[in-house]
Amino acid sequence: MAARQVARPARPPALFPGLLLAIGLTLGLTLGGCDGSNLFAGGGVTAPPPAAVDARAEVLRYLEEALLLGADDAVLRFRWTTPAPRLLLPASLPPRERDALRRAAERVRAAGGLDLVEVTAGSPEGAIRVDLLEPDAYRAVDPTRPWSFSRTFVTATPETGITEVRIALSAELDGPVLERAALHAMGHAIGLMGHPAFPGGTFVMAASPDGAPPPTAFHPWEEAAIRFLYSPSVFAGMTRTQLREAWRGFVF
Ligand SMILES: [Zn+2]
Repeated sequence: MAARQVARPARPPALFPGLLLAIGLTLGLTLGGCDGSNLFAGGGVTAPPPAAVDARAEVLRYLEEALLLGADDAVLRFRWTTPAPRLLLPASLPPRERDALRRAAERVRAAGGLDLVEVTAGSPEGAIRVDLLEPDAYRAVDPTRPWSFSRTFVTATPETGITEVRIALSAELDGPVLERAALHAMGHAIGLMGHPAFPGGTFVMAASPDGAPPPTAFHPWEEAAIRFLYSPSVFAGMTRTQLREAWRGFVF
């Protein structure tokens, strides 16, 4: 375990904020981000779901939170519409991080999500680009947040869905923490933007790891959410009402 820190409130991402925020303001895009703070939290214990919980209702709730469908008139935008977006892993990326990102992409595919086409160069537009920063360089970007080790920036519109993703990783991660960081970032990169209020020791996308060892595989509920998100009945621009209608026809 390379690092353990105390959870702090999330703040807006600061690694590429100028560029992406400028894009967002200019073109009306939505920029979603995760600063990775939740990967290393030590508090905020969340009780596991009770055994008798309605799994279908919980997954739907999770989906609506994860997709940021907070209001009835909100529309889904965090979903790739490109059938096979590129996973841009620069040639300079070391094998340790490259393999972790590859495994994360494979878990997304295995869950029933989309296929990613791995490349080592090309335009970041239409791709999930991964950048590795040496710890000093990563820290220098935002010295006020020593607990942050990875960040994900997602650009999307209701018309186009996700159009570009940037994942920044600090090179100080290793082992299960790196595995979780890669998987968590990949979850955001395909559209699971929220952090469900489920146990962090069980859910990769959860906000409060509550000190438990980080999971290195998606929970079956997270897999169901991914499979549903990339089912033919789900599309960028759909309303929450439409999403709920599609969910009723989804075999969980
Ligand atoms: Zn996150």
